[in-house]
Amino acid sequence: MSDISVQQVSYAYEPPQLALCNVSFDIPAGRFCGIIGPNGSGKTTLLKCISGYIKPDSGKVTVGGRDVTTMPAREVARRMALVQQHAALEYEFTVGDIVLTGRNPHLKRWRGETKEDYEIAMNALKEAGIAHLKDRLVTELSGGEWQMMILARALAQQADIMLLDEPVTGLDIKHQVHIMSTVKRLAAEHGISVVCVLHDLNLALTYCDQIVLMQGGTLAAVGLPEDVLTRERLESVYGTKLHILEADGQTFILPVMK
Ligand code: ADP
Ligand code: MG
Repeated sequence: MSDISVQQVSYAYEPPQLALCNVSFDIPAGRFCGIIGPNGSGKTTLLKCISGYIKPDSGKVTVGGRDVTTMPAREVARRMALVQQHAALEYEFTVGDIVLTGRNPHLKRWRGETKEDYEIAMNALKEAGIAHLKDRLVTELSGGEWQMMILARALAQQADIMLLDEPVTGLDIKHQVHIMSTVKRLAAEHGISVVCVLHDLNLALTYCDQIVLMQGGTLAAVGLPEDVLTRERLESVYGTKLHILEADGQTFILPVMK
């Protein structure tokens, strides 16, 4: 297991407009860290910097003390599974094929998958609860099934860090809760650290044990959910009035609707 350290990271797609400005925080190994913030606040860019997919203009991200941009690509792929927001549609593949591609960073050069790779992929399908979809074409999946397949692939990758960009956006509430609780359970069972971009503040409050709140490319706050997700701070960052409600021992954050 490895700690993630984001150190004074700045990045601009279109200089001088910064997408990330001097962002620093640490994620201890084994945490479930949620990245939240308004649209365009730099969440996806931050996740891409952590994954080594883009190199910061200044500052660095280390995993287990090593700069991700100087680690060999295959090693990064073995240690981190990045689940992107708009995963490319891989037509004419079965769910089993896609989950098996999670083994790619582990394959020996010029060799195909071994029996063990198939077993690991099959186990990942079972753990994600979608073994029955193994031979289904990916074009024939619901949004929730698709997302579980992508999670199973990340699991087959056996990375110790999972980076998820809005894994439940667009899904119905039952599937949102199912996917979040499955990720949480599997991460705990396998000792995987999770960094997850979320829009839903209530999911963040419930499932995360650390919150990174972004605002306009800067870090607005980092810490425990109950410390970061205060009404005053969220109203200021999101620019909208909020209700904080209690029910069944849980706290809920809702926008004031007019
Ligand atoms: P979020 O995920 O929080 O919605 P992003 O990290 O995607 O935010 O974007 C942060 C900022 O960078 C936004 O102002 C966005 O318009 C800009 N941006 C994102 N991707 C690109 C890109 N490929 N080219 C230029 N600007 C981009
Ligand atoms: Mg985004």
